[in-house]
Amino acid sequence: MAVKWWSWSVPSRGVGIVWIKSVHLTSFRNYREAEVSLDPGVNLFLGRNAQGKTNLLEAMYVASAGRSYRAARDAELVRWGDTCFRVACSVQRKPASVTLEVAYSLAGQKLVRLNASERIRAADLSSYLNVVMFTPDDLALVKGSPADRRRFLDLEISQVSPNYRHWLASYSKALLQRNALLKRATSSTRTADVLDPWDEQLVEFGSKIAARRAAVLDTLGVLGRITHRRITGTQETLSIRYSPSVPLTEGSKAEQIAQAFREKLEKLRRAELIRGMTLAGPHRDDVSFEIDGVDAAAYGSQGQQRSIVLSLKLAEVEFIKSQMGEHPVLLLDDVLSELDESRRGHLLSEVVGRYQALVTSSEPESVRAMPPDSRRFNIASGSVTEVAS
Ligand code: ATP
Ligand code: MG
Repeated sequence: MAVKWWSWSVPSRGVGIVWIKSVHLTSFRNYREAEVSLDPGVNLFLGRNAQGKTNLLEAMYVASAGRSYRAARDAELVRWGDTCFRVACSVQRKPASVTLEVAYSLAGQKLVRLNASERIRAADLSSYLNVVMFTPDDLALVKGSPADRRRFLDLEISQVSPNYRHWLASYSKALLQRNALLKRATSSTRTADVLDPWDEQLVEFGSKIAARRAAVLDTLGVLGRITHRRITGTQETLSIRYSPSVPLTEGSKAEQIAQAFREKLEKLRRAELIRGMTLAGPHRDDVSFEIDGVDAAAYGSQGQQRSIVLSLKLAEVEFIKSQMGEHPVLLLDDVLSELDESRRGHLLSEVVGRYQALVTSSEPESVRAMPPDSRRFNIASGSVTEVAS
């Protein structure tokens, strides 16, 4: 871990302008009650396995997105035996700091508040705080299923576009209804009459989703290519390609996609009735990664796949910054041990001095990879204590 901090610029206090000053958890995962004050630079959380490191970062994510990136239901976040959780983050912004609060009770009530008084929508939280989470699971972006990649895209785009969230929810609803009808449809059913209204919904929202995914992947593609060259120090070209279920023509707009989508559904109608499911649309999209034109999931080495993931995540950071005009807070969950020395060095050099970073590790020697003025904490059984440096 020969990282020479002294040769890099020293992080300015208040780096990134937007940073989390403190977080307060109540009955969140394995935390009964915890309050942590953070540094605007690097914060390292050390602890053995299963002590609450990931849970703490997940709480920050919840404060920025209103939901978890990993829990299927909010109820999973409530500490076992308790009935509700609350996460409150104090966020330093210019001109004034704000408090963001997300609370949820098992009775199903969810409360999202600004400054302890004003109720806001979960989608509005990203106007005050954006985070980018790095986890070892990110490798699934290259090696996992198309659903993993769609999830990544959806989470990322939702963060910068509340409309997109709405389109996704409306699309899912239409898809569910349409699939139920396709399953029930018999030859005696007047199929077209019942399906047509759902087709229109599917096409309306599906085409908007596809157009936005295409635009975002274009930008991510450019950012990812640059980052990849920088972190690998090679001339290899990374291409990030959108493989939509409804083919796009060059510069496809939502209206053109809608037309192509309608035609595809007409062609597929018979097959859909036989299979009892919707066979085209954004729920069947994928993204592929190529290095110099060769598919990285099938042929890439482990090292190339890891570099792609890191490039993609760093591209995500740049993307959020460009869209929101603010630096996101970086949550690096257990990723340092996953990376070799060179990639670790690249990641840290991109982060330090530019972003607030919350880094977790179960390896005490990680301290040596951190800049000397980073703040250090120990986490044990859902309790966080600061360690004097
Ligand atoms: P690792 O180093 O293995 O990644 P970690 O410190 O990141 O460990 P966490 O994922 O934060 O560990 O989980 C800590 C503990 O929280 C786990 O033992 C898990 O069983 C527990 N836990 C998860 N959800 C809840 C919940 N709703 N209520 C109580 N405990 C929970
Ligand atoms: Mg963990």
